[in-house]
Amino acid sequence: MTSDIRKVTVLGTGVLGSQIAFQTAFHGFEVTAYDIDEAALTAARDRFAKLAEIYRTDVDGGADKADATRDGIVLSADLAAAVADADLVIEAVPEVLSLKQDTYRKLGELAPEKTIFATNSSTLLPSDIKDFTGRPDRFLALHFANQVWKFNTGEVMSTPDTDPAVFDRVVEFAAEVGMVPIPIRKEKAGYVLNSLLVPFLDAGMELAAFGYAEPADVDKVWRIATGAPMGPFQILDVIGLTTPYNISSHGDEKGQQIAAWLKENYIDKGKLGIATGEGFYSYGK
Ligand code: NAD
Repeated sequence: MTSDIRKVTVLGTGVLGSQIAFQTAFHGFEVTAYDIDEAALTAARDRFAKLAEIYRTDVDGGADKADATRDGIVLSADLAAAVADADLVIEAVPEVLSLKQDTYRKLGELAPEKTIFATNSSTLLPSDIKDFTGRPDRFLALHFANQVWKFNTGEVMSTPDTDPAVFDRVVEFAAEVGMVPIPIRKEKAGYVLNSLLVPFLDAGMELAAFGYAEPADVDKVWRIATGAPMGPFQILDVIGLTTPYNISSHGDEKGQQIAAWLKENYIDKGKLGIATGEGFYSYGK
């Protein structure tokens, strides 16, 4: 079956779905953005308006194309109509396994045979979902990073059932929408990025939480010794401290001690990262 991709439908118009839809439309594809009801679509319109402002100023070619991109995205709360002629569906619904499985069960029945399905899930494996798609050979993961116009990796990950031709076509598609494609040919929780980043951030927090070195000194060593622009605590301030706190507090004993340290010294003081003006560093709002 040929895999000509022109029409792309994005499921979920939240933080990532709205960015994926906008970036895809910006690169000339016909995009439909689906969400569950009119209230969600109203929020989507706001997100697309904000993205148009960002692209106008921050993205090459944005001054000419941002408004037309925003106006060209078709919004829909009707799943059947949204996927009726889709070549590719990119799914960015909330990170809840049962919700994803239920979404694919419906999608598998409604989408034509030709449609490729790609999940943007960050933490679930595509194998957890593949049997609900009705077409495991045309299903895989395509993982974008937040702020897709700037942090433009497109991690493409297959399951053992994914047709290699579909995999190659999605790698190509990722490049066509301005991503740097990262092919991952075996399933790996966390893809490449989080397989590296999560242990790195944990190691940094362990050094500070157990009193070995101050956060700023940990960062200093990393920057000077490796030439990297940011150390773990600078990165944590960008991510925000709530996510690592939630993850650590559900972890083992060491994780819980790190969580307690984060809570006492930062979270309880409202120091949640750049978004609140202060985290491990102060950003003078
Ligand atoms: P979000 O909560 O911002 O958005 C989810 C959207 O899905 C909402 O608009 C919601 O109305 C909609 N939705 C709910 N149920 C739905 C359904 N049944 N069908 C269609 N839409 C539905 O979530 P997000 O942060 O955009 O995350 C979405 C996916 O992207 C997750 O799988 C997440 O792991 C992944 N992801 C997120 C990030 C990030 O930084 N936020 C980065 C990479 C990948």
